[in-house]
Amino acid sequence: MEVKRIIVGPLETNCYLSISDNEMIVIDPGDEPEKILTEIKKIKIKPKYIILTHYHFDHTLAVLELKKKTEAKILIHEKEKDFLNFSVDLYLKDKQKIKIGNESLKVIHSPGHTKGSICLLGKKEIFTGDTIFENGYGRTDLLGGSEKEMRESLKKLSKILKPSMVIYPGHGNIFQYRKICLSYQKSKQLLINFKKRLSAKK
Ligand SMILES: [Zn+2]
Ligand SMILES: [Zn+2]
Repeated sequence: MEVKRIIVGPLETNCYLSISDNEMIVIDPGDEPEKILTEIKKIKIKPKYIILTHYHFDHTLAVLELKKKTEAKILIHEKEKDFLNFSVDLYLKDKQKIKIGNESLKVIHSPGHTKGSICLLGKKEIFTGDTIFENGYGRTDLLGGSEKEMRESLKKLSKILKPSMVIYPGHGNIFQYRKICLSYQKSKQLLINFKKRLSAKK
């Protein structure tokens, strides 16, 4: 799968164009639709789907403009339904496979950052939205977030991820799985510290 990153908006969201065998999808068009459309035009393939890793505005702001210009279908996990202010073409479920050319991306439901956060798993790559970054996991204190669900999701993902897999997060650097082992440990330590802080407050 060929992947092109476009950094958009004030929160520097990673929007991705993912291409396989003359088919393309857009992941998280968070802002600056013109910038994204320019890159799409360069590749000269009409996108098939716009997949949203979660509902937050910094991942969805350009979605309607892009749909208008490309007619691509909008896909998001069904648990984000109550948080959306635009209509969607297809609601996704855990383990659902999305075909792009010769390849496919598997939906991994990974709640914690939001109720319907997803990761998209390919053969050698995974798009993690705001669930996993190079230096840890996404915040859980926003609407729909849950520290407990995040912990479960990190556990689930640690079983799915393979060495040398490329991780495409929603913000920051693209990195390899080897590093994520470290950040998972770090994430666990963060959780332990967080829990200590909570119990100290009681
Ligand atoms: Zn987010
Ligand atoms: Zn974000």
